[in-house]
Amino acid sequence: MDRLIYFDYAATTPVKRSAIQAMVDALGQFGNPSSRYAYARQAAQRVKEDRETVAKAFGCAPAELFFTSCGTEGDNWAIRRGVELNHRKGRHIVTTAIEHAAVLETCKDLERQGYEVTYLKPDRAGRIAVEQLAAALRPDTALVSMMLVNNETGVALPVAECVRAVKAYDASILFHCDAVQGFLKTPDPLVKLGADLAAISGHKVGGPKGIGALYIKKGVRLRPLLTGGGQEEGLRSGTEATAQIAGFAAAVRANVVDSGRLERAAAIKEYTLEKLKAALPKLEVISAGDAPHICAVTLPGYKSEVIVRVLGDRGVCISSGSACHKGRPSHVFAAMNLPKPWLDGALRLSFSPDSTREEADTLVSALHDAAGSLFTTLS
Ligand code: PLP
Repeated sequence: MDRLIYFDYAATTPVKRSAIQAMVDALGQFGNPSSRYAYARQAAQRVKEDRETVAKAFGCAPAELFFTSCGTEGDNWAIRRGVELNHRKGRHIVTTAIEHAAVLETCKDLERQGYEVTYLKPDRAGRIAVEQLAAALRPDTALVSMMLVNNETGVALPVAECVRAVKAYDASILFHCDAVQGFLKTPDPLVKLGADLAAISGHKVGGPKGIGALYIKKGVRLRPLLTGGGQEEGLRSGTEATAQIAGFAAAVRANVVDSGRLERAAAIKEYTLEKLKAALPKLEVISAGDAPHICAVTLPGYKSEVIVRVLGDRGVCISSGSACHKGRPSHVFAAMNLPKPWLDGALRLSFSPDSTREEADTLVSALHDAAGSLFTTLS
């Protein structure tokens, strides 16, 4: 394998150099932020500055941002503690059928505990309309959970409009947004969505794995996720993951200073789609994606797992759906009611602002060759 051609940035991203350096520095400065002496206070100061960095990029106050171990943790915390906080309202939750497993499995677990969950279905393009959400709200609705950017199609859900509709219906319903694929991928800071709660993750933005954050709007009094030594304002105890936090914040800084990143990602995605359509007449675009970094295509008549494996053997990394599905057919594409051959051949391509045309050309020719050889083997 000469070199890696990577088009799976929605699964995870390479850790930015500045993030690696920040992590090395933080590992070297090993003080426990809770200790009282000056050496440890430096570590605490660093965590404080890193929180300010991530909060600023999100658009919220540092006191509204709580570090977690990943996006999944943030989703679990928000939904489980959110319904608990609103237990007097009732036991009804509204979410969508196309959420990440971090939300869907949490909702399923709550169903087993007696909650009732309405799963909004997308249309053939993967879209959910605000009217669908409005029609699903009930007097006993405690919480709504809606993702910002779908990780398999790149479609952006109308979260800001949905927050407005929910709050107009009943301001006490909590609104959680899984913003893992939307953080630093939209021109506006995410606080403008108006959600009460939002989960983000470090490894999707050039930071390390094992770090994320939950935005908890001022005044929303979620109970602690973890009890113990009182870190994270008593809401998530456990000694701060200083190195991961430093890496996350450094990655955020690198994104923020790169003001052309969204346009570059969108441009390389468009270039790749055009090239693919020209090279593979059988290819259909499932979704060109609203977010700059994700799109979904299909090769009807082919098996996406086989294509992904063949490309992988050539060092070209793409996905047949969310990396979290572990080979199961995508619930997102199934919910979109795609015809079976489209489902079988569905591929997700995801991009970095630094993806090059040369890499895109290699992807296109690898896919073209794989489709050709697989067609010959099949026929
Ligand atoms: N939500 C979405 C939309 C995601 O794409 C992912 C990861 O793929 C997650 C949540 C989970 O994030 P993490 O891997 O940080 O737990």
